[in-house]
Amino acid sequence: MGKSSKDKRDVYYRLAKEEGWRARSAFKLLQLDEEFNFLQGVQRAVDLCAAPGSWSQVLSKRLSKNHKQTPDEPEPKIVAVDLQAMAPLEGVIQLQGDITKKSTAEKIISYFDGGMADIVICDGAPDVTGLHDMDEYIQAQLLLAALNITTHVLRPGGTFVAKIFRGKDITLLYSQLKIFFPTVTCSKPRSSRNSSIEAFIVCQGYQPPADYTPTMANPLLDLQYDSMNELTGPNRTIVPFIACGDLNGYDADRTYPLTSSYKQLDPLQPPITAPYKTAMELKRSNFYSKLDK
Ligand code: SAM
Repeated sequence: MGKSSKDKRDVYYRLAKEEGWRARSAFKLLQLDEEFNFLQGVQRAVDLCAAPGSWSQVLSKRLSKNHKQTPDEPEPKIVAVDLQAMAPLEGVIQLQGDITKKSTAEKIISYFDGGMADIVICDGAPDVTGLHDMDEYIQAQLLLAALNITTHVLRPGGTFVAKIFRGKDITLLYSQLKIFFPTVTCSKPRSSRNSSIEAFIVCQGYQPPADYTPTMANPLLDLQYDSMNELTGPNRTIVPFIACGDLNGYDADRTYPLTSSYKQLDPLQPPITAPYKTAMELKRSNFYSKLDK
Protein backbone atom coordinates (compact mmCIF):
# COMPACT_ATOMS: atom_id res chain seq x y z
CA MET A 1 0.00 0.00 0.00
CA GLY A 2 1.36 3.42 -0.98
CA LYS A 3 1.81 6.20 1.54
CA SER A 4 -0.84 8.40 -0.07
CA SER A 5 -3.31 5.54 0.17
CA LYS A 6 -2.88 5.56 3.96
CA ASP A 7 -3.37 9.34 3.92
CA LYS A 8 -6.64 8.80 2.06
CA ARG A 9 -7.84 5.93 4.22
CA ASP A 10 -6.95 7.53 7.55
CA VAL A 11 -7.80 11.19 7.86
CA TYR A 12 -6.39 11.47 11.39
CA TYR A 13 -3.05 10.02 10.22
CA ARG A 14 -2.91 12.74 7.57
CA LEU A 15 -4.03 15.53 9.92
CA ALA A 16 -1.44 14.50 12.53
CA LYS A 17 1.35 15.12 10.03
CA GLU A 18 -0.20 18.38 8.87
CA GLU A 19 -0.61 19.69 12.42
CA GLY A 20 2.81 18.49 13.66
CA TRP A 21 1.81 15.59 15.92
CA ARG A 22 4.03 12.51 16.07
CA ALA A 23 1.04 10.17 15.94
CA ARG A 24 -2.69 10.27 15.18
CA SER A 25 -3.27 9.30 18.84
CA ALA A 26 -2.84 12.99 19.74
CA PHE A 27 -6.42 13.58 18.57
CA LYS A 28 -7.71 10.95 20.99
CA LEU A 29 -6.25 12.80 23.97
CA LEU A 30 -7.35 16.19 22.61
CA GLN A 31 -10.92 14.96 22.07
CA LEU A 32 -11.04 13.33 25.50
CA ASP A 33 -9.84 16.58 27.08
CA GLU A 34 -12.44 18.56 25.10
CA GLU A 35 -15.07 16.41 26.75
CA PHE A 36 -13.68 16.12 30.30
CA ASN A 37 -11.35 19.14 30.59
CA PHE A 38 -8.97 17.08 32.74
CA LEU A 39 -5.86 19.00 31.61
CA GLN A 40 -7.09 22.27 33.06
CA GLY A 41 -4.64 23.53 35.73
CA VAL A 42 -2.39 20.45 35.43
CA GLN A 43 1.27 21.10 36.30
CA ARG A 44 2.72 17.62 36.83
CA ALA A 45 1.92 14.68 34.61
CA VAL A 46 3.03 11.13 33.88
CA ASP A 47 2.65 9.72 30.36
CA LEU A 48 2.91 5.93 30.45
CA CYS A 49 3.54 3.99 27.21
CA ALA A 50 4.32 7.29 25.54
CA ALA A 51 6.27 6.53 22.33
CA PRO A 52 6.48 8.04 19.77
CA GLY A 53 5.27 10.92 21.94
CA SER A 54 2.14 12.62 20.60
CA TRP A 55 0.38 12.53 23.99
CA SER A 56 3.54 14.01 25.54
CA GLN A 57 3.42 16.74 22.88
CA VAL A 58 -0.18 17.53 23.88
CA LEU A 59 0.86 17.58 27.56
CA SER A 60 3.90 19.74 26.88
CA LYS A 61 1.85 22.37 25.00
CA ARG A 62 -0.99 22.39 27.47
CA LEU A 63 1.14 22.44 30.64
CA SER A 64 3.23 25.33 29.41
CA LYS A 65 -0.03 27.22 28.64
CA ASN A 66 -1.24 26.40 32.18
CA HIS A 67 2.08 27.64 33.57
CA LYS A 68 1.74 30.98 31.79
CA GLN A 69 -1.56 31.45 33.61
CA THR A 70 0.05 30.71 37.02
CA PRO A 71 3.71 31.79 36.61
CA ASP A 72 4.35 31.71 40.39
CA GLU A 73 3.86 27.93 40.44
CA PRO A 74 6.91 25.66 39.91
CA GLU A 75 7.84 24.74 36.31
CA PRO A 76 5.64 21.99 34.79
CA LYS A 77 6.95 18.44 35.08
CA ILE A 78 6.19 15.68 32.58
CA VAL A 79 7.65 12.18 32.88
CA ALA A 80 7.18 9.97 29.81
CA VAL A 81 7.89 6.23 29.83
CA ASP A 82 7.98 3.60 27.11
CA LEU A 83 9.62 0.29 26.24
CA GLN A 84 10.81 1.96 23.03
CA ALA A 85 13.29 4.81 22.78
CA MET A 86 11.65 8.17 22.09
CA ALA A 87 13.10 11.15 20.24
CA PRO A 88 13.64 14.03 22.69
CA LEU A 89 10.79 16.42 23.41
CA GLU A 90 11.27 19.76 25.08
CA GLY A 91 10.18 19.81 28.70
CA VAL A 92 9.62 16.06 28.86
CA ILE A 93 11.74 13.75 31.05
CA GLN A 94 12.04 10.47 29.21
CA LEU A 95 12.50 7.04 30.64
CA GLN A 96 12.92 3.82 28.67
CA GLY A 97 11.41 0.93 30.60
CA ASP A 98 8.65 -1.58 31.12
CA ILE A 99 5.76 -0.21 33.19
CA THR A 100 5.02 -3.66 34.61
CA LYS A 101 8.48 -3.72 36.25
CA LYS A 102 9.01 -2.54 39.78
CA SER A 103 12.30 -0.84 38.82
CA THR A 104 10.53 1.39 36.26
CA ALA A 105 7.85 2.35 38.77
CA GLU A 106 10.54 3.24 41.30
CA LYS A 107 12.33 5.48 38.77
CA ILE A 108 9.09 7.32 37.92
CA ILE A 109 8.38 7.83 41.60
CA SER A 110 11.92 9.14 42.16
CA TYR A 111 11.42 11.87 39.51
CA PHE A 112 8.57 13.25 41.56
CA ASP A 113 10.79 13.50 44.59
CA GLY A 114 8.00 13.12 47.12
CA GLY A 115 5.76 15.50 45.14
CA MET A 116 2.71 14.14 43.39
CA ALA A 117 1.33 14.18 39.84
CA ASP A 118 -1.98 15.84 38.95
CA ILE A 119 -2.66 13.32 36.20
CA VAL A 120 -1.39 9.97 34.90
CA ILE A 121 -2.24 9.01 31.33
CA CYS A 122 -1.58 5.67 29.67
CA ASP A 123 -2.11 4.82 26.01
CA GLY A 124 -0.38 1.47 26.42
CA ALA A 125 -1.12 -1.31 24.00
CA PRO A 126 0.56 -4.68 23.71
CA ASP A 127 1.58 -6.05 20.32
CA VAL A 128 -1.79 -7.47 19.33
CA THR A 129 -1.72 -11.23 18.68
CA GLY A 130 -5.18 -11.51 17.09
CA LEU A 131 -6.21 -13.93 19.85
CA HIS A 132 -8.86 -11.70 21.41
CA ASP A 133 -8.91 -13.23 24.89
CA MET A 134 -5.13 -13.05 25.09
CA ASP A 135 -5.00 -9.46 23.78
CA GLU A 136 -7.68 -8.33 26.22
CA TYR A 137 -5.93 -10.04 29.09
CA ILE A 138 -2.55 -8.47 28.32
CA GLN A 139 -4.16 -5.06 27.83
CA ALA A 140 -5.90 -5.42 31.20
CA GLN A 141 -2.59 -6.31 32.86
CA LEU A 142 -0.98 -3.23 31.32
CA LEU A 143 -3.81 -1.07 32.61
CA LEU A 144 -3.47 -2.55 36.10
CA ALA A 145 0.29 -1.97 36.03
CA ALA A 146 -0.45 1.66 35.11
CA LEU A 147 -3.01 1.90 37.91
CA ASN A 148 -0.47 0.49 40.34
CA ILE A 149 2.11 3.13 39.40
CA THR A 150 -0.66 5.71 39.59
CA THR A 151 -1.40 4.83 43.22
CA HIS A 152 2.22 5.76 44.04
CA VAL A 153 2.39 9.12 42.27
CA LEU A 154 -1.10 10.60 41.90
CA ARG A 155 -2.27 13.30 44.30
CA PRO A 156 -5.66 12.88 45.99
CA GLY A 157 -8.31 14.27 43.66
CA GLY A 158 -6.09 13.60 40.60
CA THR A 159 -7.06 11.98 37.29
CA PHE A 160 -6.09 8.72 35.60
CA VAL A 161 -6.82 8.23 31.90
CA ALA A 162 -6.01 4.95 30.18
CA LYS A 163 -6.68 2.91 27.10
CA ILE A 164 -8.97 -0.04 27.76
CA PHE A 165 -10.22 -2.87 25.57
CA ARG A 166 -13.98 -3.22 25.92
CA GLY A 167 -13.94 -6.99 26.20
CA LYS A 168 -16.06 -9.36 28.23
CA ASP A 169 -14.08 -8.90 31.46
CA ILE A 170 -14.38 -5.12 31.51
CA THR A 171 -16.72 -5.13 34.52
CA LEU A 172 -13.92 -6.52 36.66
CA LEU A 173 -11.66 -3.66 35.60
CA TYR A 174 -14.37 -1.09 36.29
CA SER A 175 -14.83 -2.55 39.77
CA GLN A 176 -11.11 -2.34 40.47
CA LEU A 177 -10.92 1.25 39.24
CA LYS A 178 -13.97 2.24 41.31
CA ILE A 179 -12.05 1.24 44.45
CA PHE A 180 -9.74 4.19 43.79
CA PHE A 181 -11.88 6.70 41.90
CA PRO A 182 -15.45 7.78 42.67
CA THR A 183 -16.00 8.81 39.05
CA VAL A 184 -15.13 6.34 36.31
CA THR A 185 -16.29 6.91 32.73
CA CYS A 186 -15.56 4.94 29.61
CA SER A 187 -15.18 7.14 26.55
CA LYS A 188 -14.63 6.60 22.84
CA PRO A 189 -13.15 9.58 20.99
CA ARG A 190 -14.23 10.13 17.40
CA SER A 191 -10.65 9.60 16.24
CA SER A 192 -10.69 6.03 17.61
CA ARG A 193 -12.00 3.66 14.96
CA ASN A 194 -15.38 2.07 15.63
CA SER A 195 -13.94 -1.16 14.34
CA SER A 196 -11.50 -1.21 17.27
CA ILE A 197 -12.50 -2.44 20.75
CA GLU A 198 -10.29 0.30 22.15
CA ALA A 199 -11.85 2.94 24.40
CA PHE A 200 -10.51 5.13 27.18
CA ILE A 201 -11.27 5.06 30.84
CA VAL A 202 -11.38 8.47 32.52
CA CYS A 203 -11.06 8.12 36.28
CA GLN A 204 -11.50 11.30 38.30
CA GLY A 205 -11.16 12.33 41.94
CA TYR A 206 -8.46 9.89 43.09
CA GLN A 207 -9.38 8.70 46.56
CA PRO A 208 -7.71 5.46 47.64
CA PRO A 209 -9.32 3.43 50.45
CA ALA A 210 -8.31 4.79 53.86
CA ASP A 211 -6.10 1.81 54.68
CA TYR A 212 -4.55 1.42 51.24
CA THR A 213 -0.75 1.39 51.11
CA PRO A 214 0.69 1.46 47.58
CA THR A 215 3.01 -1.46 46.93
CA MET A 216 4.45 -2.84 43.73
CA ALA A 217 3.77 -6.35 45.01
CA ASN A 218 0.11 -5.52 44.58
CA PRO A 219 -2.42 -8.33 44.48
CA LEU A 220 -4.38 -6.42 41.82
CA LEU A 221 -2.27 -8.04 39.14
CA ASP A 222 -2.88 -11.49 40.49
CA LEU A 223 -6.67 -11.51 40.56
CA GLN A 224 -8.15 -14.55 38.87
CA TYR A 225 -10.45 -13.57 36.04
CA ASP A 226 -12.41 -16.81 35.93
CA SER A 227 -13.76 -16.69 39.46
CA MET A 228 -14.46 -12.94 39.20
CA ASN A 229 -16.27 -13.14 35.90
CA GLU A 230 -19.76 -13.49 37.30
CA LEU A 231 -19.88 -10.21 39.18
CA THR A 232 -23.25 -9.53 40.74
CA GLY A 233 -24.85 -7.13 43.21
CA PRO A 234 -22.63 -4.32 44.50
CA ASN A 235 -19.59 -5.94 42.88
CA ARG A 236 -21.00 -5.37 39.43
CA THR A 237 -20.07 -1.88 38.37
CA ILE A 238 -21.55 -0.30 35.27
CA VAL A 239 -19.94 2.98 34.32
CA PRO A 240 -21.34 5.61 31.94
CA PHE A 241 -20.16 5.39 28.34
CA ILE A 242 -19.60 8.66 26.47
CA ALA A 243 -18.67 9.15 22.82
CA CYS A 244 -16.55 12.30 22.47
CA GLY A 245 -15.16 14.50 19.70
CA ASP A 246 -17.25 16.75 17.42
CA LEU A 247 -19.87 14.55 15.74
CA ASN A 248 -19.61 16.77 12.66
CA GLY A 249 -15.85 16.21 12.62
CA TYR A 250 -13.93 13.54 10.72
CA ASP A 251 -15.06 9.94 11.06
CA ALA A 252 -12.07 7.65 11.79
CA ASP A 253 -13.67 4.76 9.87
CA ARG A 254 -14.37 6.68 6.65
CA THR A 255 -12.18 7.12 3.59
CA TYR A 256 -11.78 10.74 2.51
CA PRO A 257 -10.76 11.55 -1.08
CA LEU A 258 -7.56 13.53 -1.44
CA THR A 259 -8.10 17.09 -2.67
CA SER A 260 -6.22 18.62 -5.64
CA SER A 261 -4.13 20.68 -3.16
CA TYR A 262 -3.17 17.49 -1.29
CA LYS A 263 0.55 17.20 -0.56
CA GLN A 264 2.06 13.95 0.73
CA LEU A 265 3.94 14.45 4.05
CA ASP A 266 6.29 12.10 5.84
CA PRO A 267 5.39 11.06 9.39
CA LEU A 268 6.81 13.60 11.83
CA GLN A 269 8.67 11.11 13.95
CA PRO A 270 9.43 7.69 12.45
CA PRO A 271 10.26 4.99 15.03
CA ILE A 272 13.86 5.20 16.26
CA THR A 273 14.32 1.49 16.76
CA ALA A 274 11.32 -0.08 15.09
CA PRO A 275 10.70 -3.65 16.26
CA TYR A 276 10.30 -4.73 12.61
CA LYS A 277 13.72 -3.29 11.59
CA THR A 278 15.65 -6.54 12.12
CA ALA A 279 13.06 -8.51 10.14
CA MET A 280 13.32 -6.03 7.25
CA GLU A 281 17.12 -6.23 7.25
CA LEU A 282 16.98 -10.03 7.23
CA LYS A 283 14.48 -9.94 4.36
CA ARG A 284 16.70 -7.56 2.37
CA SER A 285 19.67 -9.89 2.84
CA ASN A 286 17.57 -12.80 1.50
CA PHE A 287 17.86 -14.53 4.86
CA TYR A 288 14.35 -16.02 4.65
CA SER A 289 14.69 -17.36 1.10
CA LYS A 290 17.96 -19.07 2.12
CA LEU A 291 16.05 -20.76 4.97
CA ASP A 292 13.50 -22.16 2.49
CA LYS A 293 16.17 -24.04 0.55
N1 SAM B 1 0.42 7.66 23.26
C1 SAM B 1 1.47 7.40 22.29
C2 SAM B 1 1.57 8.61 21.40
O1 SAM B 1 0.68 9.42 21.44
O2 SAM B 1 2.57 8.74 20.68
C3 SAM B 1 1.21 6.13 21.51
C4 SAM B 1 1.35 4.91 22.33
S1 SAM B 1 1.36 3.41 21.40
C5 SAM B 1 -0.33 3.26 20.94
C6 SAM B 1 1.51 2.18 22.61
C7 SAM B 1 2.86 2.13 23.27
O3 SAM B 1 2.78 1.24 24.39
C8 SAM B 1 3.99 1.59 22.40
O4 SAM B 1 4.93 2.60 22.16
C9 SAM B 1 4.59 0.45 23.24
O5 SAM B 1 5.99 0.40 23.19
C10 SAM B 1 4.11 0.82 24.63
N2 SAM B 1 4.13 -0.29 25.59
C11 SAM B 1 3.52 -1.49 25.47
N3 SAM B 1 3.78 -2.25 26.56
C12 SAM B 1 4.56 -1.50 27.39
C13 SAM B 1 5.16 -1.74 28.66
N4 SAM B 1 5.00 -2.90 29.29
N5 SAM B 1 5.91 -0.76 29.22
C14 SAM B 1 6.09 0.41 28.57
N6 SAM B 1 5.55 0.69 27.36
C15 SAM B 1 4.79 -0.25 26.77
